[in-house]
Amino acid sequence: MGRILLNHVEKRFGKERAYAVRDFNLEIQDGEFIVMVGPSGCGKSTTLRMIAGLEDITSGELYIGDKLVNHLPPKDRDIAMVFQNYALYPNMSVYENIAFGLRLRKMAKNEIDQAVKSTSRVLEIEPFLDRKPRQLSGGQRQRVALGRAIVRNPQVFLMDEPLSNLDAKLRVQMRTEIIGLQKQLGVTMVYVTHDQVEAMTMGHRIVVMKDGVIQQVDTPKLIYNNPRNMFVAGFIGTPPINFIEGKILEGSEGSLEFHTNRYYLRIPKLQADMLRKHKKVDRNVIMGIRCENIHLDSAIREANPHAQITGIQKLNELMGADMYLYMDIGMPKLLIARAQADHNFEDDEKLVLTIDMQKALFFDKETTENLW
Ligand code: ATP
Repeated sequence: MGRILLNHVEKRFGKERAYAVRDFNLEIQDGEFIVMVGPSGCGKSTTLRMIAGLEDITSGELYIGDKLVNHLPPKDRDIAMVFQNYALYPNMSVYENIAFGLRLRKMAKNEIDQAVKSTSRVLEIEPFLDRKPRQLSGGQRQRVALGRAIVRNPQVFLMDEPLSNLDAKLRVQMRTEIIGLQKQLGVTMVYVTHDQVEAMTMGHRIVVMKDGVIQQVDTPKLIYNNPRNMFVAGFIGTPPINFIEGKILEGSEGSLEFHTNRYYLRIPKLQADMLRKHKKVDRNVIMGIRCENIHLDSAIREANPHAQITGIQKLNELMGADMYLYMDIGMPKLLIARAQADHNFEDDEKLVLTIDMQKALFFDKETTENLW
């Protein structure tokens, strides 16, 4: 069984006993694809290395299956690990590289042969079995590294930034292959990356970390639509979510409004009730709005007279079918909106934007928590 349970797991390093990972609690289901994501130094690799047994656990409990494995050496944990630098043996052929781990385990020769062949079939590296790693492309080498992990048929796969040495196109291709592989093999996968796009596209659930602490564990959809705090909201999503500081004030007919120094926006009832519950009337809050929820369309504008802001278009970025508009709305940072690429804009053109207030998020200015 590939269930992994981390119970109050902590890691402290060095003389100062500085925390790398703090009170980490997570249950990973058998067959689940978990992605740990966060900025450099947030503790994601250390957590993975503790699961692998490459790093001691300072305190807490780690279970794989039903077994407490805190003190079990890596080779007895029934896991396989794939790293960023695939570390293939340069003097061995692809076949020997894949077979190596099985030889160490004294598996019979014909069984090894069968395992290597079926693994290379899955990964479509059969034609290269006689080649040396240097005679392969980056993507092929990464596939061999995967092969070396798969061939042992482990319960759990651990991957630490396995795609970061590949070019952008190959990375996208390998991403799809790893998703397919995980599905096909039905194994538990714990995958570490600092790339939020990888996290969003690959994981059943995402663990967002910062400074050694879990910020949120949720499905990609929930992480994106309902981030627990401003860090998660800002880390996940390209381009990043817009944050606008303003004040919540009473509006007409019992409504609430979000006021900046230049604009006011009417807040829908659901969010207004929530802001009242948190006693945010007359208080400053941060509103978060993603670029796809800001509209240029005139029909939307006419239907939403209380949700408009005016800005000066400073820059645009063509992305193919869409373009990103960088708007000066009188805030320290430019607001990013999304428009269809067939719009033509003049430099410094004044535009009226409509905010889909149903999609607006509100954050506590002090704690940065989502007020939802
Ligand atoms: P990256 O994406 O840069 O690899 P990460 O999120 O994987 O970062 P970790 O490598 O887990 O982060 O490091 C977490 C913290 O622990 C960092 O502050 C790091 O400096 C510290 N750390 C990691 N390994 C050691 C070590 N062997 N000795 C002392 N401190 C360490």
